[in-house]
Amino acid sequence: MSSDNNGLSLADLVLRELYRAHAELTRERETACAPGCAACCRDRVQLTTLEAAHLVERLRLAGREDLLERLAGDAAPEEPRPAWSMNALARMCLAQEDPPAEPDPPSGRACLLLADGLCQAYEARPLACRAMASRRRCPPDGRAEQDPWWVTLDTVFFQLVEQADAGGGFGYLGSVVSRVLGGEPANLVVCENLPGLPVPPQHQARLQALLGPLFARPVGGRPLGMALQALRR
Ligand code: SF4
Repeated sequence: MSSDNNGLSLADLVLRELYRAHAELTRERETACAPGCAACCRDRVQLTTLEAAHLVERLRLAGREDLLERLAGDAAPEEPRPAWSMNALARMCLAQEDPPAEPDPPSGRACLLLADGLCQAYEARPLACRAMASRRRCPPDGRAEQDPWWVTLDTVFFQLVEQADAGGGFGYLGSVVSRVLGGEPANLVVCENLPGLPVPPQHQARLQALLGPLFARPVGGRPLGMALQALRR
């Protein structure tokens, strides 16, 4: 894998830029979310191995080996494998195929990175957590009420983050962290290349207006769009 600024790989630089861009584009969202409200911080947090490597690095820098051990110890063999990654779902959607059913609903257990109602890895949390926002205060089961446009924009970012890790793994938090720490969990699926963006017709113009500036953002001496292209496998 190619290496650029400060020894970071191109994929890592792309991931960080996508996190930054997502934060900027979602800053104006009017949400009921606030520190201490953690109704959505449940198990079954999905992420890529690239995101998990970023999380692991930040936890190590913060001296939180205890959290890493807790996460790795959670990669139980019975933890399910996601039925699909976001790019696999997009591929099936574009081919008008029915996707396989998702695994059983989550247990409702709190995320292992949650303590006293706060995320212990907030700055390094995966996109699944960054995208979680609700217009209304969530009920105890964590069901958010999201604006349809938010769902479209977040889905595009999920697909781009997966493209940054094409060939890597995708799954639930404990299993993916375990893989990054050298384990061999069997319950991951492979990150796929971006097959296209199956966007609802009513959001296409709004998205097109965003994609130009997004793909032009500089990453490692080239535009983000070209960097993503270089990461196709
Ligand atoms: S990683 Fe942090 S933000 Fe995400 S579910 Fe866990 S505690 Fe919540």
